[in-house]
Amino acid sequence: MFRNQKIISLLFSLALFGCSTNSNGKILSKAPQVEIRPGEARRVVFDKNGMSEKAELVCRDNKYKFYSEGDKYIAYVAESYFSDMSGFKCLLKEARKEVVAVEFKVDKKQFPEEKLKVDGRKINLRKKDLLRVAKEQEVLNNIYASSVSTPYFQTAFKVPLNSYVTSIYGIRRTYNKQHKGQHLGTDFRAPVGEKIPAANRGKVVFSGDLFYTGWTVIIDHGLDIFTVYGHLSKTLVESGQIVQRGDLIGLAGSTGRSSGPHLHWGVKIHGQYIDGIDLAEQTKKQFKE
Ligand SMILES: [Zn+2]
Repeated sequence: MFRNQKIISLLFSLALFGCSTNSNGKILSKAPQVEIRPGEARRVVFDKNGMSEKAELVCRDNKYKFYSEGDKYIAYVAESYFSDMSGFKCLLKEARKEVVAVEFKVDKKQFPEEKLKVDGRKINLRKKDLLRVAKEQEVLNNIYASSVSTPYFQTAFKVPLNSYVTSIYGIRRTYNKQHKGQHLGTDFRAPVGEKIPAANRGKVVFSGDLFYTGWTVIIDHGLDIFTVYGHLSKTLVESGQIVQRGDLIGLAGSTGRSSGPHLHWGVKIHGQYIDGIDLAEQTKKQFKE
């Protein structure tokens, strides 16, 4: 009799809360199921499950930043362009407690191909350039490792230009018939001098000249979310400056490894370059803009 009552009560709670149990038989609140594709990011809202802000959010063995809003936590989770296509879970961990916060299903995405011809010296780098690239990489690594834990923004990401996209995110490239790579940003047609706005509110963390992207501005939006604006003819902001969405940050150009005037827009989330246009569409819906 007692056993039956226990089963009935368990069934009742499952029906009421749509809960599931973990391997220890503990009842968990149902985690949201989210679909994602390689090179995309999702803003996910999930239950606090009684855990404090000191808890860890771990997705595919990576620790993600998250923040509190009302009775929920929010995080931006990215799936690598080089995804192995397996589904994954984000776990919220604190002390000995561990729950599934979000579950991801990875869908297929096809990326087209293009052939490009560029200055050979920008591919087979001379020693001097190799040293320069290595130095710049160190500076960039430090920048990307020091994002703040709270978001600077409370609005959707906005695509910086509405002009023709000359090269989409993720396109597979062959340079000078032999060197293969992939384009992990979006290129917008832009004449030299075209005004370039910030995609969202954030803090400028880099404004300077880089070997590959020429004159470049990088903005930290918090939560390990960065936007990058490359090949500029001029930067109009300085490191440390807070910019609002839409603020002028530079002028378009063709500096660095570029085959003509355009804006290269990169979005990096938790160390992965993701599709900025997709992020703009996703966040536009979520912020109801
Ligand atoms: Zn580009």
